[in-house]
Amino acid sequence: SAREPVAAGQLLDAVMPLVNLQARKLGVRVSTRLAPGLPPVQCDRTMVEQVLLNLARNAMQAMDEAAVEDPSLLMAVRQVPGAGGKAWLEFSVADVGPGIAPEVRQQLFTPFFTTKAEGMGLGLSLCRTVVEQHGGFLAFEAREARGTIFRFTLPAAPAH
Ligand code: ADP
Ligand code: MG
Repeated sequence: SAREPVAAGQLLDAVMPLVNLQARKLGVRVSTRLAPGLPPVQCDRTMVEQVLLNLARNAMQAMDEAAVEDPSLLMAVRQVPGAGGKAWLEFSVADVGPGIAPEVRQQLFTPFFTTKAEGMGLGLSLCRTVVEQHGGFLAFEAREARGTIFRFTLPAAPAH
């Protein structure tokens, strides 16, 4: 579907009801942080909402499986400098879960790769495809027993 300028806050607001529902079930504390004065994102909002939802679900499932004592999830958006002076927004989804084992890291984005009994293994490969279709990057930083942060960039809407 179509790309249009969308406020970053609207993207977060759209997924929060579902994120909060699962968070309540799993006892996860959720917080959001939106940098002030962000330009709108040029994106297909439905697809980006799926990305945010997938990352948040993965984060909460990982903390639940690992029985983390004080599970928390932070979803944040800020502006980052990009090539050619273009503005980019960086979305991040951070958990305090187990991190990701080194032997698993290379396979995360492979379709159907999952470590879950009932996992489909399609979430992250979809996330990466959507982000790359928008010209952005998706990457993660995992620290054993200290949590994982997934970050992705999306272009700001052209100013006019
Ligand atoms: P699924 O959730 O169906 O397993 P995904 O593509 O969404 O498929 O994720 C693939 C795998 O990546 C998961 O099975 C899990 O092992 C790992 N993973 C994803 N996100 C996290 C995270 N936040 N913390 C730890 N492991 C993660
Ligand atoms: Mg998943």
